[in-house]
Amino acid sequence: QEGLKARGAGTGHGIHHVHVIGAGVMGGDIAAWAAMQGFNVTLQDQNAQAVQAALARAGTLFEKRLKTADRIEAARRRLAGDPEGARVGEADLVIEAIVEKVEVKRALFADIEPKMKPDALLATNTSSIVLEDLREGLARPQNFIGLHYFNPVPMLPLVEVVHHDQASGESLRRGLAFVRGHDKLPLAAASAPGFLVNRILFPYLLEAFRLREEGVPLRAIDEAAVRFGMPMGPVELADQVGLDVCAHVGAVIAPKLGVELPGGVEALIAAGKRGRKDGEGFYTYP
Ligand code: NAD
Repeated sequence: QEGLKARGAGTGHGIHHVHVIGAGVMGGDIAAWAAMQGFNVTLQDQNAQAVQAALARAGTLFEKRLKTADRIEAARRRLAGDPEGARVGEADLVIEAIVEKVEVKRALFADIEPKMKPDALLATNTSSIVLEDLREGLARPQNFIGLHYFNPVPMLPLVEVVHHDQASGESLRRGLAFVRGHDKLPLAAASAPGFLVNRILFPYLLEAFRLREEGVPLRAIDEAAVRFGMPMGPVELADQVGLDVCAHVGAVIAPKLGVELPGGVEALIAAGKRGRKDGEGFYTYP
């Protein structure tokens, strides 16, 4: 609880308890990161096994980053699985990181918003849906913002803090303060397709997919990018992000560039090869 005191008080965001919904690639790591940084965190998912897997992954992160047994144990205590979301009403901030489908996210919001504290922030980690489409039906759209993390969360410091026409200035201010308060770098962004980072990143990924379709070997594409100075190549990055997520964002960005999403990506998704999380995407993972 030491970390809690240090970060909760005087930071201006008034956030002590974070409830994360969706314990997949992103939600699991967001929950682990927030707990490591001193927040009390509960983690919800319709799939209880996903929650268990995320807690195990969080344990590995704590051991790697926190070093001492006391600090590791304290972080473990701050993070609790809550598959059914029984504790959403305790949270000052709810972060949604479930499947990238408007109607599923809206149905979740309709279910949880009445259970939330009236002044709690509701944030979405969506990569491709504009917030105007998600705030439909919310009773308190002023409390709704985007907190868009990047994958892998423990490695990448940036979080886009996304606003929309009905978000209050106070919600944005709290969102920015929270991001700083858990040791990430906030970037304020408007709710436009792809926000800011994906507008830059996706033309690069789409071009890598097109090169593959033209017959350039995957390794050659990745090696070129790594030699240029990127930490990993675009094909490996796409597998890390998840090809389903890439397809969703790609479908938003590709028309803006006047190109089509290369068909090879959809074929891999249909074959159950969504990237690293399935053990196979463009590459195969042990
Ligand atoms: P994922 O498939 O790894 O995880 C999604 C989780 O949500 C699954 O565990 C699933 O069981 C759960 N879920 C689905 N519907 C639910 C519901 N109604 N209630 C509770 N749990 C539910 O997906 P992900 O890659 O972590 O992506 C999650 C969100 O984050 C998406 O909106 C995506 O666009 C966004 N995002 C992804 C990345 C990335 O690189 N993967 C980056 C930034 C943002």
